[in-house]
Amino acid sequence: MAKFREFEYRRPDISIVKETFSAALKELTEAENVERQYEAIRNINAMRKEIESMSALGRIRHTIDTIDPFYEAENAFYDENDPIFLEMITQYYQALIGSKYRSELEQKMGKHVFDLAEITLKSFKPEIIADMQEENALRTEYTKLIASAKIQFEGEERNLSQMRAFFQAHDRSLRKRAYEAHTHFFAENQKTLDTLFDQLVKVRTHMANKLGFENFVPLGYLKLNRSDYDHTRVANFRKQVEKDLVPVVSGLIERQRKRLGLPEMKYYDERLKFLSGNAKPKGDANWIVEQAKQMYRELSPETHTFFTFMADHDLFDLVSKKGKAAGGYCSFIAEHRAPFIFSNFNGTSGDVEVLTHEAGHAFQTYCSAHFEVPEYLYPTYEACEIHSMSMEFFTYPWMKLFFLEEEAKFRFTHLTEALEFIPYGVSVDEFQHFVYENPEATPEERNTAWRRIENKYLPLRDYDDNAFLNTGTWWYRQGHIFDVPFYYIDYTLAGICAFQFWLKMNRDRGRAWQDYLHLCQLGGSQSFLSLVAEAGLKNPFEDGSVASVVSFINEQLNAIDDSKF
Ligand code: ZN
Repeated sequence: MAKFREFEYRRPDISIVKETFSAALKELTEAENVERQYEAIRNINAMRKEIESMSALGRIRHTIDTIDPFYEAENAFYDENDPIFLEMITQYYQALIGSKYRSELEQKMGKHVFDLAEITLKSFKPEIIADMQEENALRTEYTKLIASAKIQFEGEERNLSQMRAFFQAHDRSLRKRAYEAHTHFFAENQKTLDTLFDQLVKVRTHMANKLGFENFVPLGYLKLNRSDYDHTRVANFRKQVEKDLVPVVSGLIERQRKRLGLPEMKYYDERLKFLSGNAKPKGDANWIVEQAKQMYRELSPETHTFFTFMADHDLFDLVSKKGKAAGGYCSFIAEHRAPFIFSNFNGTSGDVEVLTHEAGHAFQTYCSAHFEVPEYLYPTYEACEIHSMSMEFFTYPWMKLFFLEEEAKFRFTHLTEALEFIPYGVSVDEFQHFVYENPEATPEERNTAWRRIENKYLPLRDYDDNAFLNTGTWWYRQGHIFDVPFYYIDYTLAGICAFQFWLKMNRDRGRAWQDYLHLCQLGGSQSFLSLVAEAGLKNPFEDGSVASVVSFINEQLNAIDDSKF
């Protein structure tokens, strides 16, 4: 098999796609027996595989170099045509749901794809195609704006990801200046960001109204294929976090303040966990990949096969460089059955976390590539984040390979940060509920709401003398808020599930790994709460689920003498 850079890219020809699709759809609706109908479904899925492979490949190459005009045009092509492909898929779903052989098809394909088809049909009508195209273009505008940042700092021009390395600087004034320079980019672009976000809120609300919803909230949930919970369950989850987790996190921040010997913790101190500096990987990107090879070889036979495949085909783009989009993600190119990991290595512990987190996603897609039904390649995002976040815990015993003598320090930090993240995550979620329940709110009102919500979940956050951040503008840097509304809570739900895996591996590692593997192999063939049950985990919405993991972790953290780090 070819290496990633040799994967052939071909832009789908829309007129051929439409023709092939119409023929297959006709075949599907007119088939006189279930075998013929299933054959038509396979033809449609083969065509989808081709389009999805090219779209994934085009978009990956665009994010690797956002200024390459060829893939910029290809990315724009998908922004424009994805809604058209979606329209075809909804026609297919209509035919699927209405099939007179439905019960036989459910036997062959599983019932879940029918549930997903019904959800998609509720969230799409051809009348919203133009709005979806506008939404896609606005999302791309945000990505490009963020990627365009050129910050002159410490004698070099840097992008936003590269600036983050300074957030952990030992020198307090250096990290303060780094935060200010980073924040300055958002202050400078505040008008553009406000306008962009306002347009996104308006177009999303408009689509929701056209589909018969009062506001975007239920549509946002449907677009994430959530089939077994609504915003009231999520609100109950946030309440558990406020009650059971916020006080614990405040305690951890107080411990950090003492370690750092500071009179007060400011926002620019939060990322520095120790006076001796945070744990850092002891080598460059290539060295890190070499260590990861050993780790996955020793972890399990399944991870060994998987990671060898990734390395042999160069299915990574790891290091931060100019013009590259921000963040990290995992994608999948179905044609080659190839996961792909994208990240922005910057010399911090985050580099290793990418190879545990994104590799967790990649491992799951690799385990689920066997499904014929493309909908089952991966589940909804909250379930996906269980794969990635639990992999971060499964790799704990190998952290010495990357951090050498700083291994214990890394694990202490990782565990602390995993807990500290959750109140922030629910803030982002509550903010988005405010935004879409109040689509007429002005940018100022939104910022006020952000500050109010932040005060509830992150009571110790102190923006010091930064007037811009004090007005409630931190959220501008949180790409998910622009890109995929209501996605963010998924990290926190999954976080509670991943903690459960960690508890389990502390008791019985073999069992925990078997449950995890089973979860990865189930891919997206079931809904979130069914997957949680299959993996032997507690439903995170149920009262007491947050408290049950938090107390165990807090005990573990309290048993560690962090003053020696
Ligand atoms: Zn993830």
